[in-house]
Amino acid sequence: MGAIFGNEMTWLRGLVQKYYSSVTIAPAYDVSRREFGYGSIQKIDTRHAGFATNAELNAFLRNVSPLFISASVSQFLNPEARPNPTKGLVGSDLIYEFDADDIPTDCKQIHDSWACPHCGAQGKGRVLKCTSCAHGTKVDEWVCSECVNATKTQTFSLLSVLRDDIGFSDDAISVNFSGSKGYHTHIRSTAVFSLPKSARVELMDYLSLHEMDLSSLGFAFDGKQYSCPPPSQAKGHALRLVREIIRLVESASIEEWGVFSGVSPRSLRPFLSQRQRLVQEVRAGILPPLPGKRTEPFWNSVLSALVDRHRLFIDRQTSGDIYKLIRVPDTIHGSTGLLAKTISLDSLPEFDPFAECVAFSWVSQRKVFVKACPTIRIGSETLDGLSEKEITVPGPLAAYLVGWGAATLR
Ligand SMILES: [Zn+2]
Ligand SMILES: [Zn+2]
Repeated sequence: MGAIFGNEMTWLRGLVQKYYSSVTIAPAYDVSRREFGYGSIQKIDTRHAGFATNAELNAFLRNVSPLFISASVSQFLNPEARPNPTKGLVGSDLIYEFDADDIPTDCKQIHDSWACPHCGAQGKGRVLKCTSCAHGTKVDEWVCSECVNATKTQTFSLLSVLRDDIGFSDDAISVNFSGSKGYHTHIRSTAVFSLPKSARVELMDYLSLHEMDLSSLGFAFDGKQYSCPPPSQAKGHALRLVREIIRLVESASIEEWGVFSGVSPRSLRPFLSQRQRLVQEVRAGILPPLPGKRTEPFWNSVLSALVDRHRLFIDRQTSGDIYKLIRVPDTIHGSTGLLAKTISLDSLPEFDPFAECVAFSWVSQRKVFVKACPTIRIGSETLDGLSEKEITVPGPLAAYLVGWGAATLR
């Protein structure tokens, strides 16, 4: 993916203009209080922009038609003022982003590839350091349903913590596709509006289980016995972990136990032959000892593997940033020609961004020269991976390839 120029830029911006001429973007907040940033070469070429009304924002989109437009997570008295501290901060939403790049999924081995500019080595997968010379690599990154769905799974985990542990109601929560590699969750509520940065970071640490102190959740070894919070009394992360332990003792395979505990099947077999008794002990608040192994390191290792599995891949850098700009929901992502569509929480489980976010569905066949791409699916069309080839494809696929920087127009 890289910046696009010339004919490709003109073509894409023409499509963007046509799209914005056919719809009205209506953000869920007062646009006059938000700072906007937009760009076509980069995602944000210009920031500190402001619009007095929704109509003004829509006129701008029709006239200027940037490939990307973002707005501040914060509300300001003077959104256009600079430097930032003079904007007059009123309050900020909470925003959590999950990006497929941050989640290690197997599909990257299929659709990503890397090359070393130093020694010329190359290979498949998201490899950031050359395997031959340790020089930084250039990665050709793509996404697919598998890795984008992994960000959806993370979003569901986030939603469960936001609802069950923090107590946010669904009407304060809004989820949208990012337009490219993941999902954004916005919390717009007076309850969070005035939270200082320190509280935002603390909340994020709780959500992401960052440096979580397990003894504060009730998991503790007293020298003889490892206790856990009884599930009947546990809440929040403690309940999630203890439920997961019950699932493990009830039904996880010996292989899964091996991965979690680092203990050999031979040692685990007698332990797991009494699953019913183990479940009863966990329900009573005890993590049962594994015969022949030291109890503390055994359960420490299981618990730390469980924490890792439940950890949310939240970007700690940006989630606390009150000056952050984030894509305006329901606008176009110029690298894909897909919409950053707002999704009702009810339809999120079935949501398929590659089918439901196509912005340029009216564009018919277009001839392009593809430099290289893995198998991709846009709308109802799937294109098998290919390289160095001229091909005629449906408009939305052409927009994806051109926006991604993987094809030129012919
Ligand atoms: Zn190298
Ligand atoms: Zn993928």
